[in-house]
Amino acid sequence: MTNNPKTQPTSDATICTIGGAHEKGAVATPIFQTSTFRFESVAQVAEYARGEGPRYQYTRYANPTLEDAEVCLAALERGARAFVFASGQAATSAWCYAHLRPGDRLVASNRLYGGTVQFFNRGLAPFGVEIQQVDLTQIDALDAHLQGAKACWFETPTNPTLRVLDGRAIAAACRKHGVLSAVDNTFASPINQKPLEWGIDWVMHSVTKYLNGHNDLIGGALIARDGIDTGLVDTVRRGTGGVMDPHAAFMLRRGLRTLVVRVERHNSNALALAQHLSQHPKIERVYYPGLKSHPDHAIAKAQMKGFGGMVACDVRGGFEDTARFVDHLRVITNAASLGGTESLLSMPVLTSHVKATPEERAAAGVTDHTVRISVGLEASDELIADLDNALKAV
Ligand code: PLP
Repeated sequence: MTNNPKTQPTSDATICTIGGAHEKGAVATPIFQTSTFRFESVAQVAEYARGEGPRYQYTRYANPTLEDAEVCLAALERGARAFVFASGQAATSAWCYAHLRPGDRLVASNRLYGGTVQFFNRGLAPFGVEIQQVDLTQIDALDAHLQGAKACWFETPTNPTLRVLDGRAIAAACRKHGVLSAVDNTFASPINQKPLEWGIDWVMHSVTKYLNGHNDLIGGALIARDGIDTGLVDTVRRGTGGVMDPHAAFMLRRGLRTLVVRVERHNSNALALAQHLSQHPKIERVYYPGLKSHPDHAIAKAQMKGFGGMVACDVRGGFEDTARFVDHLRVITNAASLGGTESLLSMPVLTSHVKATPEERAAAGVTDHTVRISVGLEASDELIADLDNALKAV
């Protein structure tokens, strides 16, 4: 890290909170809101062109505010290099364009964010990349799936039913077959799990969510483990241009300062809600990896430090009952997205899985009475009272 203390910080709390060694002694990250950078002489331009001397020429290539956020993200994920993007989708697509070629096969988990699936099928497959969606909870089938594949992409916990995939087993199988691996770590955040430490090659984040944490920007990131060639991702980011804006990078770095304390509170509030809902007569089923009843609780305990801020449940009855419940909420907001300070609730059948076929929805475990809650930082008693009150309408 480029931070001030002589020793490099090693704990997440210190990595997040520590100020930087910036221009004119600024402790907070200055916003270099500039598209381009001045050179003092032609000789300096020539130096830059040789990769020597000045580091900055044009913000689509590099910018100090972006780099400040990138240094922090790389440290949090225990990676060697991070890249920030204009959105999570810009990060995902850049990763694919950097690593996949016509004829390659991408093994993709069959439980992914809907936008990722749309991009894989409509943005990538037309260029000749084969997309093979598989159930990665079936560890016994990994060898068969990965044989001859180029890359493997998955999320854990998954959206919205929060299945937890065995990250170490998948990483080991990918290594064995020479398959490049990537994890979308958006739902857990690096505070709850660090996929690069499992042996995964790349981590992707929609920093729109927990990393920024305030529901006020869209952004993405890719982080590579040590020893991975990052040159093509850099080239593709320059070429496709989906780079983060300096102001957004400043906001992201500011959000990161409180990440550890925020995630701790998301974790404890979510557990409290999940435990309460699992006892509620109007709730058919609760999905939360921190509950002993969750099918992947043992894997979650082995690879996660906390179980995250996302809870899903099936409301008893059907779509209409669930809609009445949602419409009676007063504290929890009906909105898509996740990871911000305020609790948000959505019905995946109308949001993340609206474009999925009935078969795809069934495979993802999404019913028309499933709700997904991004549990925020409010008083948990107040959130529980809001849920109880709204459930009276069911
Ligand atoms: N990955 C996950 C798990 C998401 O939930 C989202 C957005 O909801 C994305 C990726 C896409 O990120 P963005 O909206 O920042 O492009």
